[in-house]
Amino acid sequence: MPKKSTLLDNFLDLCRTPSPSRHERAAANVLAKKIRALGFEPLEDGAGQELEGDCGNLVVKAPGSGKGPRLLISAHLDTVESPGAPPANPLLEGEWVRREGGGILGADDKTGCAVMLETLSRLSDGKQPHGDLVFVFTVCEEIEALGAAALDPEIYRGLDAAVILDHSQPCEIVVAAPTKVTFRITVHGLAGHAAFPENKINAAFVMAQTLARLPMGRLDEFTTANLGVMRSGTAINIIPDSAYAEYEIRSHRKDVLDFHVKRVIACIEGVVRENRTFRLGGGSGMDVVEGGGDGIKIKYSRVDVDVEVSYEGYRVANEATIVKRLGAAVEKAGLAPRIVSAQGGSDANILNRRGLESVVLGCGMYGAHGAEERANLKDMADAVEILLNLIGDAGRISRRGKAKD
Ligand SMILES: [Zn+2]
Repeated sequence: MPKKSTLLDNFLDLCRTPSPSRHERAAANVLAKKIRALGFEPLEDGAGQELEGDCGNLVVKAPGSGKGPRLLISAHLDTVESPGAPPANPLLEGEWVRREGGGILGADDKTGCAVMLETLSRLSDGKQPHGDLVFVFTVCEEIEALGAAALDPEIYRGLDAAVILDHSQPCEIVVAAPTKVTFRITVHGLAGHAAFPENKINAAFVMAQTLARLPMGRLDEFTTANLGVMRSGTAINIIPDSAYAEYEIRSHRKDVLDFHVKRVIACIEGVVRENRTFRLGGGSGMDVVEGGGDGIKIKYSRVDVDVEVSYEGYRVANEATIVKRLGAAVEKAGLAPRIVSAQGGSDANILNRRGLESVVLGCGMYGAHGAEERANLKDMADAVEILLNLIGDAGRISRRGKAKD
């Protein structure tokens, strides 16, 4: 007789406990209590201190008791901020869970956490033989996967692969994600009263000229660009002395990304040249410089551009053992597997980069990061079955279970 599922209750408990990045402690306590009740001992690493958060990654080891793939199974405990919104009051509508009022539900990624808890619960009687398993509940995924980056590689040394639960449909196996480059652009001008613009530099205006040149939206089939943050000015009658913007480009192809990054830098340099008042890069300023040849005092503004690779993309081969095994596990759960690419980063970007072959599996979250966020209970239950099939290696790849492209 299978145990009564606690999937829904666990999920609701986690949703009711807010856990924005760096503030996962309360939710981690809820989670740890549930893990201990199942007879496992969660260990917390030092990521909390390292990242100046209040909680580290939670690691639960289930040493191998038989044959089967050696896996890291992971979901992230943190969510995006839900500004000003009260804790989620989850509402059940058929097989869907939504929330009442504004703010996020937290389905990203508390569906994954609940699926992992349920999987641990199903393993807790020791009847199911399996290979070495490490369950990791990461923190700070929503801020460039910092928690996964802080994870000690010793934790997953010797494992075959990782399955990250952080996607929508459980029949979907995510084998690729883009690389993302972030530009943080700061224009320094010279402030003053709006009525006395002489010898002043309006940083907001210079920023506007710069941004107007940048490619935006869908750039090609692999690549997108977005201006996400723009800040300047305090009052209509003041010439702003600085302006700040955050802009990103993400692409599934490194060569295409390099092309666009170079183009963006060239755009900014173009504005620099035209205005002869810009300088790309940090370092000492040139705020006020004598010059101009005719003895006129020219004031120079400055642009600092900080270009950073936020995360490296990855592509796991469709023929990789973990993809085939997962495909077979999905089929055994009665679903048709689909191999897909993600448009965003996840902990899988970090782990692939660190040498652990990692794919992402759906776990029933939809509409992530918005007020429309919701979770599907059937999908969550399917994700549990898929994981158990995989762990039990029902997906032996000699079987017919071939993942489809
Ligand atoms: Zn997520």
